[in-house]
Amino acid sequence: MQRRNTNQRKLIYEVLKNTNIHPTADWIYEQVRKEISNISLGTVYRNLKVLKEEGKILEINDGKQSRFDARTDKHFHFKCTSCAGIYDIDKEGIIEINDAKLAQMGYFVQDLDVVFVGICYKCKTGEN
Ligand SMILES: [Zn+2]
Ligand SMILES: [Zn+2]
Repeated sequence: MQRRNTNQRKLIYEVLKNTNIHPTADWIYEQVRKEISNISLGTVYRNLKVLKEEGKILEINDGKQSRFDARTDKHFHFKCTSCAGIYDIDKEGIIEINDAKLAQMGYFVQDLDVVFVGICYKCKTGEN
């Protein structure tokens, strides 16, 4: 049983690691089901929760539903309002935070989590 759980989790993690679309649990479930036909959506959710607690994946709430990300180095996301795509944005050179100013206001910054909202290049050019 323990071994089976480990294998399921490993597969879920692999599926997530091999995509950059920041999928929903449903999408992951559809992929995992190709390998483990009797897996349930609940099992996928449970394993995603464990992976998140282990710090191996990130959960992104896009307002409607949770999306998941196996990329855990610090990066930002760009959410397209047209296709609902979520894209990775490398944080380098994108935002300069004025933490001195924030400290003056009494807020001491530990982290920054940014979601840009707009139209992606695919939707802009009609490539989708
Ligand atoms: Zn788009
Ligand atoms: Zn990401």
